[in-house]
Amino acid sequence: MRWDVLVEAMFTCQMCGTLERDTSRLVADHRKPHRGDPVLFWDRANLQCLCEPCHSTEKQKEEQATPAGVWW
Ligand SMILES: [Zn+2]
Repeated sequence: MRWDVLVEAMFTCQMCGTLERDTSRLVADHRKPHRGDPVLFWDRANLQCLCEPCHSTEKQKEEQATPAGVWW
């Protein structure tokens, strides 16, 4: 499944467009967080190929967004 996503994206990051030959540095990311929902989890359209730096930036943004919400 993860492999399908990476092959289909031709090992190119969907965010920054970097062609990453080292597949260990590529991740199949869920656009919409699946939160344990098997439908979203297995939804092929909900997956995108991201490189490590972009993936960690995305995750950081999500983590930073949560404490910001607390202040509201
Ligand atoms: Zn990237």
